Amino acid sequence: MQKARCLECGEALVGRSDKKFCHELCRSSYHNRQNALHSKKINRINAGLRHNRKILMQLIQNHKKKVSRSLLSSLGFNFHLITSVMNQNGHPCYCCYEYAYLQIDDQLLELKQLTEKDYF
Ligand SMILES: [Zn+2]
Repeated sequence: MQKARCLECGEALVGRSDKKFCHELCRSSYHNRQNALHSKKINRINAGLRHNRKILMQLIQNHKKKVSRSLLSSLGFNFHLITSVMNQNGHPCYCCYEYAYLQIDDQLLELKQLTEKDYF
């Protein structure tokens, strides 16, 4: 049977069979790196959600109530990043925080700003 090695530095492990690290420094170094990787993924998704929210907010502030899907795409809106889907009179309402859009037809979207009564 092959001897277990430290997940961080690869040094052969001595002691308990379930041991994963040779030293506390290797354990914390390994976990810090893992956490940094997770944070990087989460930060990237959050940045995309903030970008989508900003696009919807600016269009609504400029009184754009109906826009084309291609306009949102051209502004860099990522249709895969939403925070929730609500039911609005039987139609899906795709939310990005307090802003949302409903699909009117293949191309046209209706934008709306949600209020607290939409959530609670
Ligand atoms: Zn080690």
